[in-house]
Amino acid sequence: MTERSIQIAIDGPAGAGKSTVAKQLSERLGILYLDTGAMYRAFAFFCLKNGLGTSPADEQILDAFEHFDLVFEGKTILLNGEDITSVIRTPEIDRAVSPISANPLIREKMVEKQKAVASGRDIVMEGRDICDVVMPDAPYKFYLDASVEERARRRWQQNTDKGIESSLEDIKQDIVRRDEYDSTREATPLAVSRDAVLVDTTGMSLEEVIGLIISKVGEGSI
Ligand code: C5P
Repeated sequence: MTERSIQIAIDGPAGAGKSTVAKQLSERLGILYLDTGAMYRAFAFFCLKNGLGTSPADEQILDAFEHFDLVFEGKTILLNGEDITSVIRTPEIDRAVSPISANPLIREKMVEKQKAVASGRDIVMEGRDICDVVMPDAPYKFYLDASVEERARRRWQQNTDKGIESSLEDIKQDIVRRDEYDSTREATPLAVSRDAVLVDTTGMSLEEVIGLIISKVGEGSI
């Protein structure tokens, strides 16, 4: 890449709007989008489906990765040819994904894949460790946050829009539990990267958040 690459790294806690923002950015800027949370969710799904539970042994993990063929096809996520787009968003996977993603070997294998996807490409990638671990050299880094209430409300609205009934209180509890798990685990806990722009999106519209990020990218430096 001769010109400055458009590599955008977005981290933040559960329900901060990272996926929605990243998807829109990828469409508007015409660059690739990678949802790394979906990768951990898919692996959690694979482990449960194959009876490995949420704390598989190292040999099981290495073997699982030999049979873990994950493909993003537009809005559809395929695991070994099976459409898993919706089944990785269930409360069961919400519960299983934190212990799975806290496993250092699983993280190492995932980061390897994510780095390979990002190599030499314009991309927007979102997750928990993108700024410091997966794309430490990305020129644009953001940490999206919002109050727990706002994040729960947005998740609830997303569910309602999709026709899924859910309880605001249950969503809030899941968010608090996952935040706690993700920020206290030993392997690369969720934290605000030193060189990321912290955006508190509480009270901001999606358009405002996108506008802010695009203006930073347009300025060429942050
Ligand atoms: O982004 P999403 O909420 O779908 O992520 C699901 C889970 O995957 C998170 O709660 C976290 O445990 C894990 N994750 C992670 N590192 C990433 C992305 C997600 O540990 N880069």
